[in-house]
Amino acid sequence: MDTLSTGVTPAPLLRVEGVTIQYKTPDALITATRRVSFDVHNSDRFILLGPSGCGKSTLLKAIGGYLPVTEGEITIKDRPVAEPGPDRMMVFQEFDQLLPWKTVLENVRFALTASGRLSGAEARDRAESYIEKVGLARFMNSYPHMLSGGMKQRVAIARGMAMEPDVLLMDEPFAALDALTRRKMQDELLRLWDDTKFTVLFVTHSIEEAIRVGTRILLLSPHPGEVKAELNSIAPDQLGTARQAELESRINDMLFASH
Ligand code: ADP
Ligand code: MG
Repeated sequence: MDTLSTGVTPAPLLRVEGVTIQYKTPDALITATRRVSFDVHNSDRFILLGPSGCGKSTLLKAIGGYLPVTEGEITIKDRPVAEPGPDRMMVFQEFDQLLPWKTVLENVRFALTASGRLSGAEARDRAESYIEKVGLARFMNSYPHMLSGGMKQRVAIARGMAMEPDVLLMDEPFAALDALTRRKMQDELLRLWDDTKFTVLFVTHSIEEAIRVGTRILLLSPHPGEVKAELNSIAPDQLGTARQAELESRINDMLFASH
């Protein structure tokens, strides 16, 4: 399709269409999400926001290709998602997602070589450059146990970004950090985004974090998760202004309104 001459909006990078996901347990069928639809475009910082148990992680795992959908379809670049792939890298909340017997550099390099993305010197150069981007140049040769929680999360982010995926999937990556480190990591993520304009799908249950990190925010209702609304966030220079307070209270009302 020639988008330049026709002016047609380009197809979304990632499309989630009418997705229902259920878990079968020995004594129950649990509906985690019901008929969820949204589109993520290139360079979006797209947020899934909702209370604990509304199916955010479930959705992210299905997009990652780790979980089948019961109903609906997930496509990336117009191809159905059927299995995990290096086009969708995941960053988790837990601090133990790194290989403990490998250094920071080895952890990032290993992701590149094991996936066949790059080999040898190229993998090393790419790994070093992303470790520098997250401010850990001095810790290339440190092992995970020598790092703080925030530093480990930076390595996990560097590893995900080094793969240069179509979309980076982040599941509450800062939720286990103290408030100050969390704020710092949010600002760093925005700086990284300014630098490379990567597409990120970010899960959080914090309204404040959603507004700070996101360009678009999808609100999900409590269990089972259904789309309540999709909103634009505010520009970073409006953080701390009345616009932020307004949006926070609007989202708060929508999330806690009876349904
Ligand atoms: P969130 O990430 O928004 O907190 P989850 O996606 O983890 O929510 O869970 C959504 C719902 O699905 C919850 O009710 C949870 O108990 C249920 N659930 C999640 N994983 C499983 C599983 N492996 N087996 C059965 N139920 C599950
Ligand atoms: Mg979760």
